[in-house]
Amino acid sequence: MFDRLSSLVVALTLVAVAAIFAALAGGDALTIALLALTGAAAAALVYSALASPAVAQTHPETAPAPDPAPTSLLRHPDFALWADQEEEPLLGCDGNIVTLANDAAVRLLGRHIVGADVRTAIRHPAATEWLSGIDTPGSLEPINLIDFPRPGQRWTMRIAALSGGQKILFLADRSAIDAADRMRSDFVANASHELRTPLAAILGYVETLQDMNGEADGATRHRFLSIIEREARRMQRLVIDLLSISRVEADRFRRPTASVDLTAIVRATIAQLRDSENPRAQDIAAAFDEMTLPILGDEAQLGQLVHNIIFNAMKYGRPDTPVTVELIREGRRARLSVRDEGEGISPDHLPRLTERFYRVDEARSRSVGGTGLGLAIVKHISERHQGQLDIESEVGKGTRVSVTFPLAG
Ligand code: ADP
Repeated sequence: MFDRLSSLVVALTLVAVAAIFAALAGGDALTIALLALTGAAAAALVYSALASPAVAQTHPETAPAPDPAPTSLLRHPDFALWADQEEEPLLGCDGNIVTLANDAAVRLLGRHIVGADVRTAIRHPAATEWLSGIDTPGSLEPINLIDFPRPGQRWTMRIAALSGGQKILFLADRSAIDAADRMRSDFVANASHELRTPLAAILGYVETLQDMNGEADGATRHRFLSIIEREARRMQRLVIDLLSISRVEADRFRRPTASVDLTAIVRATIAQLRDSENPRAQDIAAAFDEMTLPILGDEAQLGQLVHNIIFNAMKYGRPDTPVTVELIREGRRARLSVRDEGEGISPDHLPRLTERFYRVDEARSRSVGGTGLGLAIVKHISERHQGQLDIESEVGKGTRVSVTFPLAG
Protein backbone atom coordinates (compact mmCIF):
# COMPACT_ATOMS: atom_id res chain seq x y z
CA MET A 1 0.00 0.00 0.00
CA PHE A 2 2.87 2.28 0.88
CA ASP A 3 4.23 1.70 -2.69
CA ARG A 4 0.86 2.67 -4.19
CA LEU A 5 0.92 5.95 -2.33
CA SER A 6 4.51 6.65 -3.31
CA SER A 7 3.73 6.09 -6.96
CA LEU A 8 0.74 8.42 -6.67
CA VAL A 9 2.98 11.14 -5.25
CA VAL A 10 5.58 10.51 -7.91
CA ALA A 11 2.84 10.69 -10.58
CA LEU A 12 1.55 14.01 -9.31
CA THR A 13 5.07 15.36 -9.04
CA LEU A 14 5.62 14.33 -12.64
CA VAL A 15 2.41 16.21 -13.56
CA ALA A 16 3.92 19.29 -11.96
CA VAL A 17 7.27 18.77 -13.73
CA ALA A 18 5.46 18.29 -17.06
CA ALA A 19 3.58 21.52 -16.47
CA ILE A 20 6.93 23.29 -15.83
CA PHE A 21 8.36 21.99 -19.06
CA ALA A 22 5.18 23.03 -20.86
CA ALA A 23 5.52 26.51 -19.43
CA LEU A 24 9.22 26.66 -20.23
CA ALA A 25 8.22 25.96 -23.75
CA GLY A 26 5.85 28.94 -24.01
CA GLY A 27 4.82 30.53 -20.61
CA ASP A 28 6.30 33.32 -18.44
CA ALA A 29 8.41 32.77 -15.30
CA LEU A 30 5.52 33.44 -12.85
CA THR A 31 3.23 30.90 -14.51
CA ILE A 32 6.04 28.34 -14.40
CA ALA A 33 6.61 28.90 -10.67
CA LEU A 34 2.84 28.67 -9.89
CA LEU A 35 2.45 25.45 -11.86
CA ALA A 36 5.42 23.87 -10.05
CA LEU A 37 4.09 24.83 -6.61
CA THR A 38 0.56 23.60 -7.39
CA GLY A 39 1.86 20.22 -8.54
CA ALA A 40 4.00 19.74 -5.46
CA ALA A 41 1.20 20.85 -3.10
CA ALA A 42 -1.27 18.51 -4.77
CA ALA A 43 1.19 15.64 -4.34
CA ALA A 44 1.62 16.43 -0.63
CA LEU A 45 -2.16 16.71 -0.02
CA VAL A 46 -2.97 13.43 -1.76
CA TYR A 47 -0.23 11.68 0.22
CA SER A 48 -1.38 13.00 3.59
CA ALA A 49 -5.05 12.35 2.82
CA LEU A 50 -4.45 8.72 1.86
CA ALA A 51 -1.77 7.81 4.37
CA SER A 52 -3.58 7.70 7.77
CA PRO A 53 -6.85 5.94 6.81
CA ALA A 54 -4.90 3.35 4.90
CA VAL A 55 -2.94 2.38 8.05
CA ALA A 56 -6.11 2.17 10.26
CA GLN A 57 -7.92 -0.02 7.74
CA THR A 58 -5.07 -2.34 6.98
CA HIS A 59 -4.09 -3.05 10.61
CA PRO A 60 -7.35 -3.07 12.56
CA GLU A 61 -5.94 -5.49 15.18
CA THR A 62 -3.28 -3.10 16.22
CA ALA A 63 -5.76 -0.28 16.86
CA PRO A 64 -6.08 0.61 20.57
CA ALA A 65 -9.35 -0.77 22.11
CA PRO A 66 -11.89 1.91 23.01
CA ASP A 67 -11.58 2.80 26.68
CA PRO A 68 -14.42 0.76 28.34
CA ALA A 69 -16.81 2.53 30.71
CA PRO A 70 -16.15 1.13 34.18
CA THR A 71 -18.99 -1.31 35.11
CA SER A 72 -20.23 -1.88 38.69
CA LEU A 73 -22.19 -4.99 39.56
CA LEU A 74 -23.30 -3.47 42.83
CA ARG A 75 -24.77 -0.41 41.11
CA HIS A 76 -26.61 -2.39 38.48
CA PRO A 77 -30.38 -2.05 39.05
CA ASP A 78 -30.94 -5.78 38.34
CA PHE A 79 -28.51 -6.66 41.10
CA ALA A 80 -30.48 -4.65 43.66
CA LEU A 81 -33.67 -6.37 42.47
CA TRP A 82 -32.11 -9.81 42.83
CA ALA A 83 -30.63 -8.95 46.23
CA ASP A 84 -34.03 -7.94 47.58
CA GLN A 85 -35.45 -11.32 46.61
CA GLU A 86 -32.80 -13.09 48.68
CA GLU A 87 -34.20 -14.21 52.02
CA GLU A 88 -30.89 -14.04 53.82
CA PRO A 89 -29.21 -10.68 54.52
CA LEU A 90 -26.86 -9.47 51.82
CA LEU A 91 -24.64 -6.36 51.73
CA GLY A 92 -22.76 -4.77 48.84
CA CYS A 93 -19.66 -2.81 49.80
CA ASP A 94 -17.37 -0.45 47.97
CA GLY A 95 -14.15 -0.75 49.91
CA ASN A 96 -15.48 -0.79 53.43
CA ILE A 97 -18.53 1.39 52.78
CA VAL A 98 -21.89 -0.30 52.51
CA THR A 99 -23.50 0.79 49.26
CA LEU A 100 -26.32 -1.72 49.13
CA ALA A 101 -28.33 -3.63 51.72
CA ASN A 102 -31.23 -5.92 50.87
CA ASP A 103 -34.45 -5.97 52.91
CA ALA A 104 -33.27 -8.84 55.11
CA ALA A 105 -30.02 -6.99 55.90
CA VAL A 106 -31.92 -3.83 56.77
CA ARG A 107 -34.19 -5.83 59.07
CA LEU A 108 -31.17 -7.37 60.78
CA LEU A 109 -28.79 -4.42 60.99
CA GLY A 110 -30.97 -1.33 60.60
CA ARG A 111 -31.62 1.19 57.82
CA HIS A 112 -28.68 3.39 58.81
CA ILE A 113 -26.12 0.84 57.53
CA VAL A 114 -26.16 2.07 53.92
CA GLY A 115 -23.32 4.60 53.70
CA ALA A 116 -21.75 3.38 56.94
CA ASP A 117 -18.49 1.48 57.39
CA VAL A 118 -19.29 -2.22 57.17
CA ARG A 119 -17.20 -2.91 60.26
CA THR A 120 -19.49 -0.70 62.32
CA ALA A 121 -22.60 -2.07 60.59
CA ILE A 122 -21.67 -5.65 61.58
CA ARG A 123 -20.40 -5.07 65.05
CA HIS A 124 -18.55 -8.30 65.63
CA PRO A 125 -14.83 -8.75 66.36
CA ALA A 126 -14.40 -11.71 63.97
CA ALA A 127 -16.09 -9.79 61.13
CA THR A 128 -14.05 -6.65 61.76
CA GLU A 129 -10.76 -8.54 61.73
CA TRP A 130 -11.67 -10.47 58.62
CA LEU A 131 -13.03 -7.54 56.63
CA SER A 132 -9.85 -5.56 57.18
CA GLY A 133 -7.67 -8.19 55.50
CA ILE A 134 -9.52 -8.73 52.21
CA ASP A 135 -7.81 -7.28 49.16
CA THR A 136 -7.77 -9.94 46.47
CA PRO A 137 -10.89 -10.96 44.52
CA GLY A 138 -12.36 -14.38 45.16
CA SER A 139 -14.89 -16.24 47.22
CA LEU A 140 -13.82 -16.95 50.76
CA GLU A 141 -14.79 -19.66 53.23
CA PRO A 142 -17.53 -18.53 55.61
CA ILE A 143 -16.62 -17.45 59.11
CA ASN A 144 -18.67 -17.88 62.27
CA LEU A 145 -20.13 -14.92 64.07
CA ILE A 146 -20.73 -16.36 67.54
CA ASP A 147 -23.23 -14.54 69.78
CA PHE A 148 -24.34 -12.41 66.84
CA PRO A 149 -26.53 -10.37 66.87
CA ARG A 150 -27.55 -11.55 70.33
CA PRO A 151 -25.91 -13.86 72.87
CA GLY A 152 -26.62 -17.53 72.15
CA GLN A 153 -27.12 -17.00 68.40
CA ARG A 154 -24.74 -17.93 65.62
CA TRP A 155 -24.56 -16.52 62.10
CA THR A 156 -22.09 -17.17 59.34
CA MET A 157 -20.65 -14.58 56.99
CA ARG A 158 -19.43 -15.34 53.48
CA ILE A 159 -17.66 -12.83 51.26
CA ALA A 160 -17.39 -12.65 47.51
CA ALA A 161 -14.62 -10.14 46.83
CA LEU A 162 -14.94 -8.52 43.39
CA SER A 163 -12.37 -6.51 41.47
CA GLY A 164 -11.94 -2.85 42.27
CA GLY A 165 -12.32 -3.39 46.02
CA GLN A 166 -16.04 -4.24 45.84
CA LYS A 167 -17.41 -7.01 48.06
CA ILE A 168 -20.67 -8.85 48.52
CA LEU A 169 -21.32 -10.12 52.04
CA PHE A 170 -23.80 -12.94 52.65
CA LEU A 171 -25.05 -13.48 56.20
CA ALA A 172 -26.89 -16.65 57.26
CA ASP A 173 -28.60 -17.52 60.54
CA ARG A 174 -27.39 -20.88 61.89
CA SER A 175 -29.10 -20.65 65.30
CA ALA A 176 -31.94 -23.04 64.37
CA ILE A 177 -29.47 -25.64 63.02
CA ASP A 178 -27.47 -25.34 66.25
CA ALA A 179 -30.64 -25.79 68.31
CA ALA A 180 -31.53 -28.94 66.32
CA ASP A 181 -27.98 -30.28 66.81
CA ARG A 182 -28.18 -29.55 70.51
CA MET A 183 -31.52 -31.33 70.71
CA ARG A 184 -30.09 -34.37 68.97
CA SER A 185 -27.07 -34.61 71.24
CA ASP A 186 -29.22 -33.95 74.34
CA PHE A 187 -31.47 -36.78 73.21
CA VAL A 188 -28.57 -39.20 72.87
CA ALA A 189 -27.19 -38.11 76.25
CA ASN A 190 -30.62 -38.47 77.91
CA ALA A 191 -31.30 -41.86 76.35
CA SER A 192 -27.87 -43.13 77.45
CA HIS A 193 -28.46 -41.82 80.95
CA GLU A 194 -31.90 -43.47 81.11
CA LEU A 195 -30.42 -46.80 80.04
CA ARG A 196 -27.38 -46.55 82.24
CA THR A 197 -29.34 -46.33 85.49
CA PRO A 198 -31.24 -49.65 85.22
CA LEU A 199 -28.21 -51.31 83.67
CA ALA A 200 -26.06 -50.33 86.66
CA ALA A 201 -28.71 -51.75 89.00
CA ILE A 202 -28.88 -55.03 87.08
CA LEU A 203 -25.08 -55.42 87.05
CA GLY A 204 -24.87 -54.53 90.74
CA TYR A 205 -27.37 -57.19 91.80
CA VAL A 206 -25.92 -59.82 89.49
CA GLU A 207 -22.44 -59.21 90.96
CA THR A 208 -23.78 -59.39 94.51
CA LEU A 209 -25.45 -62.71 93.77
CA GLN A 210 -22.22 -63.99 92.23
CA ASP A 211 -20.19 -62.83 95.24
CA MET A 212 -22.55 -64.71 97.52
CA ASN A 213 -21.45 -67.84 95.70
CA GLY A 214 -24.82 -69.56 95.95
CA GLU A 215 -25.02 -68.83 99.66
CA ALA A 216 -27.91 -66.37 99.38
CA ASP A 217 -31.07 -67.67 100.97
CA GLY A 218 -34.17 -68.14 98.88
CA ALA A 219 -35.84 -64.88 100.00
CA THR A 220 -32.77 -62.76 99.25
CA ARG A 221 -32.28 -64.39 95.89
CA HIS A 222 -35.92 -63.86 95.07
CA ARG A 223 -35.77 -60.18 96.07
CA PHE A 224 -32.62 -59.57 94.01
CA LEU A 225 -34.01 -61.37 91.00
CA SER A 226 -37.24 -59.31 91.20
CA ILE A 227 -35.20 -56.11 91.17
CA ILE A 228 -33.18 -57.38 88.21
CA GLU A 229 -36.38 -58.23 86.38
CA ARG A 230 -37.97 -54.82 87.15
CA GLU A 231 -34.92 -52.95 85.92
CA ALA A 232 -34.62 -55.12 82.83
CA ARG A 233 -38.30 -54.45 82.03
CA ARG A 234 -37.67 -50.74 82.47
CA MET A 235 -34.86 -50.97 79.95
CA GLN A 236 -37.10 -52.96 77.65
CA ARG A 237 -39.87 -50.30 77.80
CA LEU A 238 -37.31 -47.63 77.13
CA VAL A 239 -35.87 -49.45 74.14
CA ILE A 240 -39.40 -50.07 72.77
CA ASP A 241 -40.27 -46.37 73.16
CA LEU A 242 -36.98 -45.28 71.61
CA LEU A 243 -37.65 -47.49 68.61
CA SER A 244 -41.22 -46.18 68.39
CA ILE A 245 -40.14 -42.56 68.42
CA SER A 246 -37.51 -43.12 65.77
CA ARG A 247 -40.01 -45.00 63.55
CA VAL A 248 -42.66 -42.30 64.01
CA GLU A 249 -40.12 -39.59 63.24
CA ALA A 250 -38.97 -41.39 60.12
CA ASP A 251 -42.60 -41.48 58.90
CA ARG A 252 -43.25 -37.86 59.84
CA PHE A 253 -43.69 -36.55 56.29
CA ARG A 254 -45.47 -39.60 54.90
CA ARG A 255 -49.19 -38.95 55.06
CA PRO A 256 -51.17 -42.12 55.84
CA THR A 257 -53.39 -43.20 52.97
CA ALA A 258 -55.43 -46.08 54.45
CA SER A 259 -58.89 -45.36 55.82
CA VAL A 260 -59.24 -46.70 59.38
CA ASP A 261 -62.02 -46.51 61.93
CA LEU A 262 -60.93 -44.54 65.01
CA THR A 263 -63.81 -45.98 67.06
CA ALA A 264 -62.64 -49.55 66.42
CA ILE A 265 -59.04 -48.64 67.32
CA VAL A 266 -60.08 -46.99 70.61
CA ARG A 267 -62.35 -49.91 71.45
CA ALA A 268 -59.58 -52.48 70.80
CA THR A 269 -57.09 -50.50 72.92
CA ILE A 270 -59.53 -50.24 75.83
CA ALA A 271 -60.19 -53.99 75.64
CA GLN A 272 -56.47 -54.70 75.71
CA LEU A 273 -55.89 -52.44 78.73
CA ARG A 274 -58.90 -53.88 80.58
CA ASP A 275 -57.47 -57.36 80.05
CA SER A 276 -54.14 -56.36 81.52
CA GLU A 277 -53.08 -56.98 85.10
CA ASN A 278 -52.93 -53.27 85.79
CA PRO A 279 -54.78 -52.52 89.04
CA ARG A 280 -56.54 -49.63 87.28
CA ALA A 281 -57.71 -51.83 84.42
CA GLN A 282 -61.35 -51.76 85.48
CA ASP A 283 -61.42 -47.97 86.03
CA ILE A 284 -61.64 -47.29 82.30
CA ALA A 285 -65.07 -45.93 81.36
CA ALA A 286 -65.88 -45.67 77.67
CA ALA A 287 -68.41 -42.95 76.90
CA PHE A 288 -69.16 -43.19 73.21
CA ASP A 289 -71.64 -44.67 70.74
CA GLU A 290 -71.21 -47.33 68.10
CA MET A 291 -70.59 -44.84 65.29
CA THR A 292 -67.73 -45.28 62.89
CA LEU A 293 -65.23 -42.44 62.63
CA PRO A 294 -63.20 -43.00 59.46
CA ILE A 295 -59.84 -41.24 59.30
CA LEU A 296 -56.79 -41.64 57.11
CA GLY A 297 -54.35 -43.30 59.39
CA ASP A 298 -51.78 -45.85 60.42
CA GLU A 299 -53.66 -48.33 62.61
CA ALA A 300 -50.69 -49.42 64.72
CA GLN A 301 -49.54 -45.84 65.37
CA LEU A 302 -53.05 -44.67 66.27
CA GLY A 303 -53.37 -47.64 68.64
CA GLN A 304 -50.16 -46.55 70.30
CA LEU A 305 -51.37 -42.93 70.62
CA VAL A 306 -54.64 -44.05 72.25
CA HIS A 307 -52.75 -46.47 74.53
CA ASN A 308 -50.27 -43.82 75.72
CA ILE A 309 -52.98 -41.27 76.55
CA ILE A 310 -55.24 -43.74 78.43
CA PHE A 311 -52.27 -45.36 80.18
CA ASN A 312 -51.06 -41.94 81.43
CA ALA A 313 -54.52 -41.28 82.88
CA MET A 314 -54.30 -44.66 84.64
CA LYS A 315 -50.79 -43.92 85.90
CA TYR A 316 -51.37 -40.39 87.16
CA GLY A 317 -55.05 -40.55 88.15
CA ARG A 318 -56.01 -41.43 91.73
CA PRO A 319 -56.74 -45.12 92.34
CA ASP A 320 -60.40 -46.06 92.06
CA THR A 321 -61.36 -42.91 90.14
CA PRO A 322 -62.67 -43.22 86.60
CA VAL A 323 -60.58 -42.83 83.49
CA THR A 324 -63.20 -41.54 81.07
CA VAL A 325 -62.65 -42.06 77.35
CA GLU A 326 -64.89 -40.01 75.02
CA LEU A 327 -65.16 -40.08 71.26
CA ILE A 328 -67.28 -37.53 69.45
CA ARG A 329 -67.78 -36.18 65.99
CA GLU A 330 -67.25 -32.40 65.70
CA GLY A 331 -68.23 -31.34 62.19
CA ARG A 332 -65.52 -32.65 59.86
CA ARG A 333 -63.35 -33.84 62.75
CA ALA A 334 -63.30 -36.67 65.27
CA ARG A 335 -62.33 -35.88 68.87
CA LEU A 336 -60.86 -38.36 71.33
CA SER A 337 -60.58 -37.17 74.92
CA VAL A 338 -59.37 -38.94 78.02
CA ARG A 339 -60.15 -37.51 81.45
CA ASP A 340 -58.66 -38.54 84.78
CA GLU A 341 -59.09 -37.46 88.37
CA GLY A 342 -55.56 -37.01 89.60
CA GLU A 343 -53.12 -34.43 90.91
CA GLY A 344 -53.22 -32.49 87.68
CA ILE A 345 -50.35 -30.54 86.14
CA SER A 346 -49.46 -26.93 86.94
CA PRO A 347 -49.68 -24.58 83.91
CA ASP A 348 -45.94 -23.88 83.70
CA HIS A 349 -45.27 -27.54 82.83
CA LEU A 350 -47.96 -27.85 80.17
CA PRO A 351 -45.99 -26.45 77.20
CA ARG A 352 -43.07 -28.84 77.82
CA LEU A 353 -44.92 -32.12 78.37
CA THR A 354 -44.41 -33.33 74.80
CA GLU A 355 -40.61 -32.85 74.93
CA ARG A 356 -38.69 -36.12 75.05
CA PHE A 357 -37.84 -37.20 78.60
CA TYR A 358 -39.64 -34.24 80.15
CA ARG A 359 -41.37 -35.27 83.37
CA VAL A 360 -43.14 -33.15 85.96
CA ASP A 361 -42.00 -35.46 88.75
CA GLU A 362 -39.20 -37.78 87.73
CA ALA A 363 -39.43 -40.12 90.73
CA ARG A 364 -43.19 -40.42 90.30
CA SER A 365 -42.84 -41.20 86.61
CA ARG A 366 -40.24 -43.88 87.31
CA SER A 367 -42.28 -45.44 90.09
CA VAL A 368 -45.21 -45.92 87.68
CA GLY A 369 -42.96 -47.27 84.95
CA GLY A 370 -42.82 -44.10 82.84
CA THR A 371 -40.12 -43.55 80.22
CA GLY A 372 -40.76 -39.84 79.65
CA LEU A 373 -41.37 -40.53 75.96
CA GLY A 374 -45.11 -41.32 75.94
CA LEU A 375 -46.40 -37.85 75.12
CA ALA A 376 -43.56 -37.12 72.69
CA ILE A 377 -44.69 -40.19 70.73
CA VAL A 378 -48.32 -39.00 70.96
CA LYS A 379 -47.37 -35.59 69.58
CA HIS A 380 -45.48 -37.05 66.62
CA ILE A 381 -48.25 -39.51 65.73
CA SER A 382 -50.84 -36.76 66.05
CA GLU A 383 -48.86 -34.44 63.74
CA ARG A 384 -48.46 -37.16 61.14
CA HIS A 385 -52.25 -37.58 61.13
CA GLN A 386 -52.90 -33.82 60.97
CA GLY A 387 -54.23 -34.04 64.51
CA GLN A 388 -54.47 -31.32 67.11
CA LEU A 389 -53.31 -32.23 70.62
CA ASP A 390 -54.65 -30.32 73.66
CA ILE A 391 -53.80 -30.85 77.31
CA GLU A 392 -55.94 -29.13 79.92
CA SER A 393 -55.32 -29.65 83.59
CA GLU A 394 -56.35 -28.34 86.96
CA VAL A 395 -54.02 -28.95 89.89
CA GLY A 396 -55.67 -31.15 92.47
CA LYS A 397 -58.56 -32.07 90.16
CA GLY A 398 -57.29 -33.85 87.12
CA THR A 399 -56.25 -33.73 83.48
CA ARG A 400 -57.96 -33.99 80.12
CA VAL A 401 -55.93 -34.89 77.06
CA SER A 402 -57.69 -34.57 73.66
CA VAL A 403 -56.73 -35.09 70.06
CA THR A 404 -58.88 -34.15 67.06
CA PHE A 405 -58.35 -35.69 63.62
CA PRO A 406 -59.83 -34.74 60.27
CA LEU A 407 -62.43 -37.28 59.12
CA ALA A 408 -61.74 -39.06 55.86
CA GLY A 409 -63.80 -38.50 52.72
P1 ADP B 1 -44.03 -40.74 81.29
O1 ADP B 1 -43.55 -41.97 80.66
O2 ADP B 1 -43.12 -40.19 82.33
O3 ADP B 1 -45.44 -40.85 81.77
P2 ADP B 1 -45.05 -38.99 79.24
O4 ADP B 1 -44.31 -38.41 78.09
O5 ADP B 1 -46.18 -39.87 78.95
O6 ADP B 1 -43.96 -39.66 80.13
O7 ADP B 1 -45.56 -37.79 80.12
C1 ADP B 1 -44.66 -36.78 80.50
C2 ADP B 1 -45.01 -36.28 81.89
O8 ADP B 1 -46.26 -35.60 81.83
C3 ADP B 1 -45.17 -37.34 82.92
O9 ADP B 1 -43.96 -37.72 83.50
C4 ADP B 1 -46.10 -36.69 83.91
O10 ADP B 1 -45.35 -35.90 84.79
C5 ADP B 1 -46.97 -35.79 83.05
N1 ADP B 1 -48.29 -36.36 82.72
C6 ADP B 1 -48.64 -36.97 81.57
N2 ADP B 1 -49.94 -37.35 81.62
C7 ADP B 1 -50.40 -36.94 82.81
C8 ADP B 1 -51.68 -37.03 83.46
N3 ADP B 1 -52.73 -37.60 82.87
N4 ADP B 1 -51.77 -36.46 84.68
C9 ADP B 1 -50.74 -35.89 85.28
N5 ADP B 1 -49.52 -35.79 84.74
C10 ADP B 1 -49.34 -36.30 83.52
